[in-house]
Amino acid sequence: MNIAENLNLVRRQLPSGVKLVAVSKTYPAGPIQKALEAGQTCFGESRVQELTVKQARFPQLEWHFIGHLQTNKVKQIVSFVGLIHSVDSLRLLQEINAQAVKAGRVVDCLLQAYIAREESKFGLDADELHGLLARCSDGAFPGVRICGLMGMASNTPQSEVVRAEFRALRAIFDAAKKQYYADKSYFCELSMGMSSDYSIAVEEGSTMVRIGSAIFGHR
Ligand SMILES: *Cc1c(COP(=O)(O)O)cnc(C)c1O
Repeated sequence: MNIAENLNLVRRQLPSGVKLVAVSKTYPAGPIQKALEAGQTCFGESRVQELTVKQARFPQLEWHFIGHLQTNKVKQIVSFVGLIHSVDSLRLLQEINAQAVKAGRVVDCLLQAYIAREESKFGLDADELHGLLARCSDGAFPGVRICGLMGMASNTPQSEVVRAEFRALRAIFDAAKKQYYADKSYFCELSMGMSSDYSIAVEEGSTMVRIGSAIFGHR
């Protein structure tokens, strides 16, 4: 596996407006260093412990949190995290806000929408999403800036199912933008697409893809 080649292969398939988050979870410092040497500066992790260790080793990089975040661990990442993709409850949002205010920061976040058919995925359903958006957009959380939405499609080889789920998320994003953030240019990110489905996600309007194994190899 040549990480620089893999990165270039992925980059060639991304339109210029789409940001690549290199998902380095489970990979040690060596592969991250290789990706960094190949010009990658934004990385994603899904466990707090792993993120804090890697951020301490590579503090110059932009670190995103993409996994399920427990409220009691928010304070460990709030001082440096570049974007939290996976806000999936009011309680979590309240805790991020409280810790961010304490740290004197405004933390960029995405709300994670539930779009897959599978039971196991975290995320907000349509009602919960609207409830949170309504509260966020009226200034209730000064330590948080909601920059858009994130979603994961079903893990299925049926590409038409995946496409329909991404398309549904795009529609939710457009409606949310119109209703709550029409005059806010920062509400512009739609994080969707992983190694197996990013081409479809990009076709359906993704602005940010989270790609691990296609860059670093199979975990
Ligand atoms: C692991 C993970 C990814 C990357 O998955 P790959 O299939 O390795 O590209 C993307 N998003 C989330 C939320 C993840 O946990």
